[in-house]
Order: sequence, then structure tokens, then C-alpha cells
Amino acid sequence: MTTRDEERAARARARVRDFLAGEPRVLAGSLVERSMICGKANCRCHDEPPQLHGPYAQWSYTVAGKRFTRWLTPEQQRRYRPRIEAGKQLRELMKELEHYETLSVERAEGWGR
Ligand SMILES: [Zn+2]
Repeated sequence: MTTRDEERAARARARVRDFLAGEPRVLAGSLVERSMICGKANCRCHDEPPQLHGPYAQWSYTVAGKRFTRWLTPEQQRRYRPRIEAGKQLRELMKELEHYETLSVERAEGWGR
């Protein structure tokens, strides 16, 4: 017997499979753009209104509990942004798959979710 949770899990599995079929390059972490104020007192970034430096792209990721932050040049950003976005997409697809697989087991075992 196939439950609705199992059907949903099967569809989520297919989405992960289809995504990986494209052999995407994936990276951990996320990319944010930051505009900065510098230390020079007479710089335009201290004007009113301020003209901030940047925006600069900052890639942050965690490996084995350790946080890393890297500033990316425009060239590095062009190279790595698609991989960072693909990584995020894959994690979302995996989260969805785990969700339906877990629901399916919870119901099959009568653990009441
Ligand atoms: Zn400045």
C-alpha cells in the first residue's frame, strides 16, 4: 500500500534525482552583499547621506562547526555564485525529501505524527 506521504516522498526523491542529473557544482554556505564604512574620517562614506563602499560580496560557510567568511572579487562572485545557489537549492530539496520520508515512517510505525 502506498500512502500519500510515500507518494510525496517519491516525488521529492525524483526532484533530487532530476536536480543531480544536471551534475551541478554545489557549495555550502550563503552569499551576502555588504556595503561598508571605512576608517578615513573625511571619506564620502561618512557624508550625510553616506556614500558607502561596495557592495562587496561575502561568502560564509561552516565546516565541522567552524565558520569561514571569504570576500569575493566580482570575478570570483561570477564563478561561485551559481554553485552557492545550487547548494542552497539541493539542501532545500533534501530537507523536503527528509520531511516526507520521516512523516511516512512516523505514520507507518504508528508513532502518531
Ligand atoms: Zn570610506
